Amino acid sequence: MLFKLVVFGLVGILAYLFFTGKLGKLAKAKKSKIDATNMIECDTCGSFVSDKEAIHGHGNHYCSKPCRDS
Ligand SMILES: [Zn+2]
Repeated sequence: MLFKLVVFGLVGILAYLFFTGKLGKLAKAKKSKIDATNMIECDTCGSFVSDKEAIHGHGNHYCSKPCRDS
C-alpha cells in the first residue's frame, strides 16, 4: 500500500515536471514567435502589420499603399 503511494507520488511529480516543462517551452516558443514577427503600426490608420507586409515610405511605415499615398 505504501509502495503504491510512493509510485503514484513519483509518477505525479514526473507528470508535473513534464507538463510544466512542456508548458514552459510552449510559452517560450510562443513568445519567440511573437518577437520574430515584428509588428509595425501604420502611421495613417493605426493598423498593425508585420514588418514584411509593411510599406515604407516618407520615413514612415504604412499597412497599405492607399495609407501611404493618403
Ligand atoms: Zn493603414
